[in-house]
Amino acid sequence: VKRKAGKYEKQAKAVKQAAVLGAGIMGGGIAYQSASKGTPILMKDIKEEAIELGLKESRKLFAKQVERGKLTTEQMAEKLTHIRPTLSYGDFGHVDLVVEAVVENPKVKDAVLTEVEGLVSEDTILTSNTSTISITRLAQNLKRPENFCGMHFFNPVHRMPLVEVIRGEKTGDAAVAATVAYARAMGKTPIVVNDCPGFLVNRVLFPYFGGFSLLVEQGADFQRVDKVMEKFGWPMGPAYLLDVVGMDTAVHANEVMAEGFPDRMAQGGRNGTKTAIQVMVENERLGQKNAKGFYAYE
Ligand code: NAD
Repeated sequence: VKRKAGKYEKQAKAVKQAAVLGAGIMGGGIAYQSASKGTPILMKDIKEEAIELGLKESRKLFAKQVERGKLTTEQMAEKLTHIRPTLSYGDFGHVDLVVEAVVENPKVKDAVLTEVEGLVSEDTILTSNTSTISITRLAQNLKRPENFCGMHFFNPVHRMPLVEVIRGEKTGDAAVAATVAYARAMGKTPIVVNDCPGFLVNRVLFPYFGGFSLLVEQGADFQRVDKVMEKFGWPMGPAYLLDVVGMDTAVHANEVMAEGFPDRMAQGGRNGTKTAIQVMVENERLGQKNAKGFYAYE
């Protein structure tokens, strides 16, 4: 089926050069995906090690494609040249769209976004991959909030088709259009959503995690719950998914959402107790990131 261009793409500015700030789990994945689909991307971090890790991950993913016969080694080498790692903002003057993917800390994000806004050209689109922080809130210190929106990828970026494009109060149509078009060029399925804590996906997912946590607090066996949800047709159960997301990230995101929807979501467990997920964090069982969560990893 040939897909018609949507209302956003018709007016979109093409992204010929992208940039990502942060070469972590998400930034590295975004750089890989952009390069893989042919849009050159600058990958900036403040740490040399982070950049090396980001590149290593991309090489690994491209090498898998070579193993499967989907790419030749020449094509892999060519695609890798689309990722330009950097520790400086040197070439940011020619960037069409920036994805900010630094740590989930509003102060750090504010600093990074205002810094980069001062270096890029006037019509460069700035986006943030934040999971929870309001886009309207992040736009507060920007001089051109109309050029800013959310671009929320999911982990792992190369496998998850969905991208939430979040429209803040002052986001302009051109920013939404360019971001939607870039997401499509990356082979993703963008949806445009309004700004609120958790956007769309996490508003569905976190009450589900809350329901799962309560079952565990009441004595349910998490492995059985996972098996049941797999039989129900979900690709993985809630315990495994929490291991992928990271328990600390989940607790933090839940706090932001409980603040936003106090009538629907709680900060902790019932009667002032801790939730099963909070207890996991206390016991340093963060998930795959430290090789122990609900399950143990090599
Ligand atoms: P991460 O800790 O793996 O990576 C963050 C990177 O940002 C690090 O490499 C760090 O060195 C770098 N950094 C810090 N300050 C910087 C600066 N001033 N300039 C450039 N780089 C800087 O984190 P992550 O999991 O990749 O998350 C990044 C963002 O994506 C967060 O906002 C997070 O909420 C969001 N997100 C994460 C997930 C997930 O599942 N991990 C999913 C969707 C969205």
